Amino acid sequence: MILIRGGRVYDPAGDTDHPAIRDVMVDGDTIVSVTAPDADPEAKRRVETEAARGVGAMIDARDTLVLPGFVNAHYHSYDTLVKGLIEDAPFDLWALQTQPAFYGRRSKAELRLRTLLGAIECLKGGITTVQDMCTLVPQDEETLDVIASAYAEVGIRVVFALALRDVGDLDIAPFLPDDLSDTVRRAVTGSPRDAAEDLAFAAAQIRRLPAGDLWHWGVAASGPQRASDTLLEGVAALSERYGMPIFTHVYETRAQAAKARRIYGRHDGSMIRHMAEVGVLGPRTTMAHGVCIAPDEIATIARAGATVAHNPLSNMKLKSGVAPIRALKAEGVNLAIGCDNCSCGDCQNMFQGLKMFCLLAGVADPGPTGVHAVHAIEAATRGGARALGLGKTIGAIEPGRKADLSLVRLDTMAFTPFNSAARQITFSETGSGVDTVLVGGRVVVRDGRLTTLDEAAIRAEIADMMPAFRRDFEDLRRTSVEAAPVLVAALRRLETIDVGLDRHLAKR
Ligand SMILES: [Zn+2]
Repeated sequence: MILIRGGRVYDPAGDTDHPAIRDVMVDGDTIVSVTAPDADPEAKRRVETEAARGVGAMIDARDTLVLPGFVNAHYHSYDTLVKGLIEDAPFDLWALQTQPAFYGRRSKAELRLRTLLGAIECLKGGITTVQDMCTLVPQDEETLDVIASAYAEVGIRVVFALALRDVGDLDIAPFLPDDLSDTVRRAVTGSPRDAAEDLAFAAAQIRRLPAGDLWHWGVAASGPQRASDTLLEGVAALSERYGMPIFTHVYETRAQAAKARRIYGRHDGSMIRHMAEVGVLGPRTTMAHGVCIAPDEIATIARAGATVAHNPLSNMKLKSGVAPIRALKAEGVNLAIGCDNCSCGDCQNMFQGLKMFCLLAGVADPGPTGVHAVHAIEAATRGGARALGLGKTIGAIEPGRKADLSLVRLDTMAFTPFNSAARQITFSETGSGVDTVLVGGRVVVRDGRLTTLDEAAIRAEIADMMPAFRRDFEDLRRTSVEAAPVLVAALRRLETIDVGLDRHLAKR
């Protein structure tokens, strides 16, 4: 058993400025009680005895804020090594440098290290669960096993989904001129895949590596416009059969909205209504981004009970514009927050996500928006938990839920003076105050250090690998440099196509 003593335990229904001081008792992987300090002297004695024998622990949480572990509701582990290599690239140019297929087969060592790296960054910043929408190259069991065992090694909770797509074209392909060079044409058209084969592979893996402990499954289509109806119907069927959440990118960019207007004519160009028709819009669905969701689509999403996972950092870095968070919240859509790829936000840091969640809601309206710090924290905890199909399992500090927690120090600049836990977590904390993290009752970070693996050794292994990795990256960058003028011209043309909304601000 673990007794976390005397911390300020964050409760959204309680005082979110000065949360009450509580003891949190953990048995195995589960929270068993949240009580006033020293309310249960018998339990305290039991933990003390156990701790003396080295089987339990007493964690002094005085002067810390105890938070539910954050849920990173949209993330891709495959390009954590690209952190800091790309700048000033709009989405479609970025995509040319980051498609997993373009990198080809990677070594097992690289697969393991890149998975560990992203997970370690999450854990040290208080993120205890990630939704990894992952693409396997090659798509085989060996590749999946290396990734799954890296997750088990590091000790983070993961909701894993294979990102399926059978349409190879990049989103911007329909808006490019015909006279492309062969290299650029090959890159933007990609290669189509077989929907039945990929669905069968996903189903086989779900049976072979069943959910358990910290491993959970979801099912993903990379995007409705990147998938045939057969693939989307197959995704819906898998979700139904195994009760799994569905993840997909929706309306991340203006190009995707423009493509939707072309290909979903039957539904007045609405990707959302197309999703409803093929069965992938429901309470188990999480749409990443939603930047270009139209006002008349928001009510449909709310009625369906679906989630929008907001990714403010990647949307801004890839120049995708601002998602209508204020309007989505006003309609009652469940919201979550993702940190997305390390190639387009360059960090897995929920504190940046919380801050941007509130600040970006503000740019849509000069008056009060009703989007507050408590709502950002709600999206990063309960909202994310519900999105990932773990709404009753994680996301809150209550008896019966899994002990996924973080302790954030209050004796820091971020909390001096200590006026409001919710607002200072959202607007002041950077992540450097995360002291202790538990996932499923296991202490994985203590005194700000990872306990499950030798982090310095992992950093050294990554440093050894990077010269070769960077050479491969430079090859990809050359294609993107060659493609840049046509892509940028296409983006300019797209600005003149009416898609019924504009998600960019302060243009003049
Ligand atoms: Zn994504």
